[in-house]
Amino acid sequence: MSDNHKNPFLSSEFYGIIQGKEVYRYILQNETMRVIITNLAGAIIAIYTKSRNGSEKNIVAGFNDIKDYEENPYYFGCVIGRNANRIANGKFVLNGKTIQLSVNDGINHLHGGFNGFNGKVWKLSGAQTEKDEVSVEFEYLSTDGEEGYPGNLLVKIKYTLNNKNELSVEYNADTDKATPVSLTNHSYFNLSGFESSTIHEHLLYVNAKNYTEKNVNNTPTGNILPVADTPLDFREPKKIGKDIHQFPKDNGFDHNFVLRKNVSGPIVPAAQLKDPSSGRTVTVYTDQPGIQVYTANFWDGTVEGTHGAYQQHGAIALETQAFPDSPNHPSFPGTILQPGQHYFSKTVYQFGIE
Ligand code: BGC
Repeated sequence: MSDNHKNPFLSSEFYGIIQGKEVYRYILQNETMRVIITNLAGAIIAIYTKSRNGSEKNIVAGFNDIKDYEENPYYFGCVIGRNANRIANGKFVLNGKTIQLSVNDGINHLHGGFNGFNGKVWKLSGAQTEKDEVSVEFEYLSTDGEEGYPGNLLVKIKYTLNNKNELSVEYNADTDKATPVSLTNHSYFNLSGFESSTIHEHLLYVNAKNYTEKNVNNTPTGNILPVADTPLDFREPKKIGKDIHQFPKDNGFDHNFVLRKNVSGPIVPAAQLKDPSSGRTVTVYTDQPGIQVYTANFWDGTVEGTHGAYQQHGAIALETQAFPDSPNHPSFPGTILQPGQHYFSKTVYQFGIE
């Protein structure tokens, strides 16, 4: 990486043609780090940060070949929508009418369906270079009926990298019919830059004293239970490997944590991940009520990407979101966006070294 740019710097390069549309890679960089984002799936392709010894590595799972983003079975780096995580039986009642979504994960609807926002080529709708930050914005119009969802939904995703090593993601959406919306990003972190093949030695803190209980179908029962005295207690930083084998059915952690809201402002620290060996850290801030912690439980070495073959527990996704299956749980924070209302959500990933 060049150190010529004191101010954050934005560049782009042609990546290929997908679905007849031009796809680019956008490179956002500041003095110490570099983020590569593409308008295919709105995906984060790479995040290069330095270790405490100055060694620069890409700390997120990704692909080199554009074609791999069309398959991308594990959703590497993608924007997820309209609805992150599962909707039980792909069904819910809205204004007295049963809405049937596509069912793409056993009996459930997962991550927006067969061809969710991760399967789309987004349009560049903005690019800015300011003194202290650079940003790119993409938009996508999800049409009425797509994957069963009601309403035309115009979605915008803005990625901003600033001089403080913060990558922020702002999600905006407007609809013309009532529809559920819960957007997230599905990046998987391994702060050693995948030098360690698993994240078992990483330390994780999650700002949650409760989690949403799941049933055998991996959807919420509706109960909100304390993490205290369970393997899900990350209120003090804990080695991920310590309790990762306590959930044999899930093959690891795959849980939605109920974030503790901070009274002083809308953006709260949700989680922090540290790799003691390299010193790299990432702190996640969000205005969302939940975070899905998923430890790449079904990676099995068959998917090859930027770092070679990805192994089980090779990385961790920290997906800020509304609670799974919210449209079926009136007691959960609401996710139905009405015409005339505006959806806005913000998540910030702050990168550091200890
Ligand atoms: C979900 C997992 C799912 C995975 C797919 C995660 O967000 O919580 O249950 O298997 O995405 O990559």
